[in-house]
Amino acid sequence: MTKPCVVIGNWKMNMDIEATRKFITELPPMLSPSIGRVCLAVPFTLIKTATDCARGTEIEIGAQDVSLHEKGAFTGEVSASMIQDAGGVFTLVGHSERRMYHQEKDSVIKDKVRRAILAGLTTVVCVGETQEQRDKGQTKKVLLTQLKEALSSLNQNEIGTVFIAYEPVWAIGTGRSATAESAQEVHGVIRNYVKEIWGDEISSQMPILYGGSVTPETIQDLIKMPDINGALVGGASLKVESFAKIINISRETKL
Ligand code: PEP
Repeated sequence: MTKPCVVIGNWKMNMDIEATRKFITELPPMLSPSIGRVCLAVPFTLIKTATDCARGTEIEIGAQDVSLHEKGAFTGEVSASMIQDAGGVFTLVGHSERRMYHQEKDSVIKDKVRRAILAGLTTVVCVGETQEQRDKGQTKKVLLTQLKEALSSLNQNEIGTVFIAYEPVWAIGTGRSATAESAQEVHGVIRNYVKEIWGDEISSQMPILYGGSVTPETIQDLIKMPDINGALVGGASLKVESFAKIINISRETKL
């Protein structure tokens, strides 16, 4: 069976309406035949524009975060149903920049995951250890804690809509990608955790993505690994040429 192959661009706080239109017009003709999914996590203000431009293409648009509340007096928040209303079909949750700069705790991430799933959004749960935790040999423990907190209350149907992104914090935006072997080791731990709780079928179908300084060069070895199903790409998703290359290399390797 073809393995799931998913590449998600995380634009963070970059791009504007004009640049979004240009990027999404230019990307589809650059892509090799579709296996799997190609997604863009854009700022809230660009979801509607991106969705309109992506109509009729294989590109799926989503958000970088979601409120844990359904609606009401939560100034500055954006709900899962608002993301959907604008055309978004997925959201990231628990990105390390949310954990670091907005003090998002595992308990908050758990509530966000539940809210996104209840609304019907595909939910990309981001986990990863810091350099300090890695140096202390705590990588596995940290990841299992993050995963348990975010996911353990989900039933069989709910977990089926979740993707996991392993993003070592020390690799994000630093130009220091994890090696393929060390990323594979961690992805194996993550897949085993999913298997132990939800079984073989769910675990073998779950997209587990690597994120952290992915480029057209670093993806080549990473994507050969059996438990790496794709990538969450920050910096290199801002240039259409490099993003298209990452997608095409991933697709051709997973075929
Ligand atoms: C990210 O922030 O999700 C990310 C992976 O960033 P970069 O690719 O720039 O390291």
